[in-house]
Amino acid sequence: MICRTHLSLSFLFAFFVVKLLVPENAVVFVLVALFASLLPDIDSGSSMLGKHFSFFLRHRGFLHSFFAPAVLLFFLPESIYFLAFCIGYFSHLVGDMLTVQGVMPVYPVSRVRFSGFMATGSFAEDVFFVFLVALDIFAVLI
Ligand SMILES: [Zn+2]
Repeated sequence: MICRTHLSLSFLFAFFVVKLLVPENAVVFVLVALFASLLPDIDSGSSMLGKHFSFFLRHRGFLHSFFAPAVLLFFLPESIYFLAFCIGYFSHLVGDMLTVQGVMPVYPVSRVRFSGFMATGSFAEDVFFVFLVALDIFAVLI
C-alpha cells in the first residue's frame, strides 16, 4: 500500500478514536497517528524514510508485525498519544493486510501471512484511496 492510502486509512481510524475519547489535543493525536502510519515502511527501500534504513531490515518483516509497537512501549511514555501512535501503526498493518503481498502480523514467532486482493499502487488501490478520502471527509463533517 502506498503512502497516501496509509495516511487516509490512519486518519479515518484516528478520527474515529478522537470522537470516542476526545483527547486534550485532537490535532496532535491525529498527527501522531499519521506519522506512525508511515513508520513500518522504513524497511522498504522505495519509501521516503526507507532509503536510509532499509539496508538492514527485511521488508514486511518485524516492523510489519504487532511486536514492533509493543517494543516501543518500553521506550515511550505512557500517554494517550502512545495510543495514537499504536492506532497509526496498526492502521498501516491493516492496510497492508489488504494487499496481495500481505503481512505476517506475529513475525518472527510465526510466518502466517494475512493478505488481500489489492496490488500495491494498482487501480484497485486508487479506488480504495478515493473511497477512504470520501469516508475521511464524511467523518469530519458528521
Ligand atoms: Zn507497509
